[in-house]
Amino acid sequence: MTIQMLMKNYDIPRNLMKLILDELNLEPDRKLAQIAREQRNNLVILFCEYPFEVESTGNFNMAMTTKGGVSLNEVSSKTMESKLVKNLYFAGEVLDIDGDTGGYNLQAAFSTAYLAVDAINIKSLS
Ligand SMILES: Cc1cc2nc3c(=O)[nH]c(=O)nc-3n(C[C@H](O)[C@H](O)[C@H](O)COP(=O)(O)OP(=O)(O)OC[C@H]3O[C@@H](n4cnc5c(N)ncnc54)[C@H](O)[C@@H]3O)c2cc1C
Repeated sequence: MTIQMLMKNYDIPRNLMKLILDELNLEPDRKLAQIAREQRNNLVILFCEYPFEVESTGNFNMAMTTKGGVSLNEVSSKTMESKLVKNLYFAGEVLDIDGDTGGYNLQAAFSTAYLAVDAINIKSLS
């Protein structure tokens, strides 16, 4: 059995597998029986725990959300109306809230917009 045949049993991305094998000077089609014990141990270690250092983050063009914005202290959390300026409402990205990716920012945009629109509707009907 070769290394790549064995690795098909695990959910390891192909590029990551290539990176690790390159680091250990191992070819994917190398037979398992031909790997020295030390290389085999290193292979297991790197597949279980691959340490790396983050060198930098992406720039503004790659950003998914922005920190900063209108302070939540200056906005009613029930209506999203400004506490400083009457009839001025905020929702979404313009507010000083940011979350991890995974839907939190979209949910914040939807929820704050819903609150603001609801409050505006109620005000215009009364
Ligand atoms: C590449 C990318 C991936 C993302 N992935 C995720 C994710 O997986 N999960 C998640 O939760 N969030 C994600 N986000 C963040 C999420 O999309 C935003 O938080 C959300 O769209 C904010 O909604 P919003 O309506 O407040 O602002 P926006 O969606 O930015 O809408 C603002 C709108 O206002 C318009 N506008 C700006 N200036 C003016 C002006 N002067 N006059 C008129 N119109 C104007 C803009 O053109 C835009 O259409 C991602 C963002 C990016 C960029």
